Amino acid sequence: MLISSPTAGSLFMVAAPSGAGKSTLVNALLAQEPAIRLSISYTTRPPRPGEEDGREYHFTTVEDFLARKAQGEFLESAEVHGNYYGTSRIVIEQQMKAGTDILLEIDWQGAQQVKKQFPNAVGIFILPPSIPALEDRLKKRGQDEPHIITRRILAAGGEMAHAPEFEYVIINQEFATALSELNAVVKATRCRFTQQSTRNAELFAQLGIHANPQ
Ligand code: GDP
Ligand code: ADP
Ligand code: 5GP
Repeated sequence: MLISSPTAGSLFMVAAPSGAGKSTLVNALLAQEPAIRLSISYTTRPPRPGEEDGREYHFTTVEDFLARKAQGEFLESAEVHGNYYGTSRIVIEQQMKAGTDILLEIDWQGAQQVKKQFPNAVGIFILPPSIPALEDRLKKRGQDEPHIITRRILAAGGEMAHAPEFEYVIINQEFATALSELNAVVKATRCRFTQQSTRNAELFAQLGIHANPQ
């Protein structure tokens, strides 16, 4: 019989310059892998048309955000494109304890902070096929004001300079290919020795396999 245990889960961090297709890829992944829990960040950015409080983000004020930060409520937080973003510490810690797979859509600054606390967290960076494609996608998405799109395109180079800090890089040219690569990273991570042996502790014991044989 298979048993689950506290450290069986994996922590995924997906980062990308705005418009690379991160949220679209993550949503498609979650449709295929509903067991992965998406962390809902707090943000001071105003909601885009169609975004709902508690679904894409917990939308909040600068005052409320800074008060939460001062209380130590965030596992990580960062200022990105002039807004604050942060990940709830308690939600992540509870899900980690329960052995749930968790996915964070966070920027490179947040990824650095999480990696310090969870060295086994898996970083995945999504790249666009080109800068013109990025610009085109942001314009076609049609959800940001032109000056916000310009700001995000100007920030893209500085964000992509942090891609080497991530274990995996996915180029989102053909969507289906990028999605299958993202899925492959998730599947490979779940097959890591630590995850497998924790998730299947009883089987490993029966087979006489022990961690770190000397
Ligand atoms: P997107 O670029 O279209 O996904 O635009 P968003 O406004 O949704 O996100 C802006 C940036 O903030 C992106 O780089 C996100 O990855 C990042 N971000 C979102 N939530 C968090 C968070 O909880 N923590 C950190 N550090 N960054 C976040
Ligand atoms: P991000 O979360 O990285 O800011 P989105 O997921 O919102 O980006 O994607 C930006 C836009 O690009 C969306 O309109 C999305 O439909 C589109 N898009 C995503 N992936 C591709 C792709 N492979 N080819 C063309 N358009 C894409
Ligand atoms: P957007 O405003 O377009 O939704 O997100 C802009 C950027 O903020 C994206 O790069 C996104 O990954 C990042 N972001 C969203 N939530 C968080 C968060 O909780 N923490 C950090 N560090 N970045 C975040």
